[in-house]
Amino acid sequence: MAKPLPEITSLTRPLWEGAKRGELLLQRCRRCGKHQWYPRPSCHKCGSLDLEWVKSSGMGTVYSFTVIRRVVGNAPEFSSDIPFVVAEIDLDEGVRVYSNVVGVKPEEVSVGMRVRVFFEEAGPEISLFKFRPAT
Ligand SMILES: [Zn+2]
Repeated sequence: MAKPLPEITSLTRPLWEGAKRGELLLQRCRRCGKHQWYPRPSCHKCGSLDLEWVKSSGMGTVYSFTVIRRVVGNAPEFSSDIPFVVAEIDLDEGVRVYSNVVGVKPEEVSVGMRVRVFFEEAGPEISLFKFRPAT
């Protein structure tokens, strides 16, 4: 069963093109220098419209996570993944992203764990970014 995929918009196209190349891209403000996540038309710190896309190191730290052990409601596409980890990850650039932590048993994931991004092809235009332990 096919999973729902992110919708590519003019705002998010650079992100998904980067992911296809194996690069996690973030927006950075040219005025105040802050990175931001998620993609927005203006800087969430200073309001500037002068944003650029820059490559993330792809390194981060688990801030928080949950283990999904049961699919309820309208998402049977995810049943085959159970159990899986959904985490908030603080990238080294100072932004917090939501993603999955894989390649490790859910009970071995911990707050503070260092993780590294990788990309999983999900369609002709979409590669999803996920994280594995960095060790
Ligand atoms: Zn700014």
